[in-house]
Amino acid sequence: MSKVHGDELLVKLEALADLAEHDGNPLQEPLRQALQLCREQQHRIERMLRIADGFNAAALGHSTSALRRQRSRLEKVARIADRYQELMHEQNLHLSQASSVDPLTGLANRRQIDAVLGDELARAHRRGQALCVAMLDVDHFKQINDSFGHAVGDRALTSLAQVLKASLREQDFCGRWGGEEFVLVLPGSTTAGARTTLERVLSAIRQLEVDTGQGLVRMTASAGLAQRLPAEAAQDLVRRADIALLMAKRNGRDRIELAPEAAAASGA
Ligand code: GH3
Ligand code: MG
Ligand code: MG
Repeated sequence: MSKVHGDELLVKLEALADLAEHDGNPLQEPLRQALQLCREQQHRIERMLRIADGFNAAALGHSTSALRRQRSRLEKVARIADRYQELMHEQNLHLSQASSVDPLTGLANRRQIDAVLGDELARAHRRGQALCVAMLDVDHFKQINDSFGHAVGDRALTSLAQVLKASLREQDFCGRWGGEEFVLVLPGSTTAGARTTLERVLSAIRQLEVDTGQGLVRMTASAGLAQRLPAEAAQDLVRRADIALLMAKRNGRDRIELAPEAAAASGA
């Protein structure tokens, strides 16, 4: 039996039911009614399919535009997050700069000096290498402030900081300990080498001229020098350099003095 398409079968049955030769057949009327019912159900199914298709298309369109909206919202959030991260990064840089740099001179502040000295000293101990620390203090600096004002004093400190930086080797480090006092960390330098460096620094300071607005003023500085002892703590090394600085002041200023071998030996 050949396969017959549903619609073709209906057309064939409708044609048969209408044939005059079947008039009076008791099956004719129920057949017409059954065919009518079939047609109606066919229309109903087609209408439902059309509605379902339309509904599907609408749902698809809706979800696409909702996805697009969602994506653009996410992109916006991502852009805000990126900008926020950039700001945080800048803020962090700014904060770490502010917490480690002296604002007047641009040199390392005490906090950074402590960190650098700690690292360098630990390395020198580990490798058994020499390391010197020098404390440097401007002589009679108060007189500059008293004679020319605080602003000139500030300018003198800034110029002195530049001289310090310019006089040191790349591996050397300097920072502002506070006021008119500076610390030098000289990794790899023995007392003899550090003394040569300090002489160069003090000589450059002597030659520095600061414009006071009423002529030029010059400065001198004193320095105390200490070479690390085996396993010595940073604060003990700094204390010995400080004692040597005091000796330099007592012995007439504008000079370098060497620290005693042990802080206790000097009575400190
Ligand atoms: P000495 O040779 O004994 O070191 O004498 P000095 O006058 O340098 O020492 P003293 O401790 O008596 O005075 C230090 C002066 O440094 C006093 C203080 O006002 C000044 N000073 C400290 N910090 C600053 C600063 O940031 N700017 C200015 N202009 N002056 C400062
Ligand atoms: Mg001083
Ligand atoms: Mg001082």
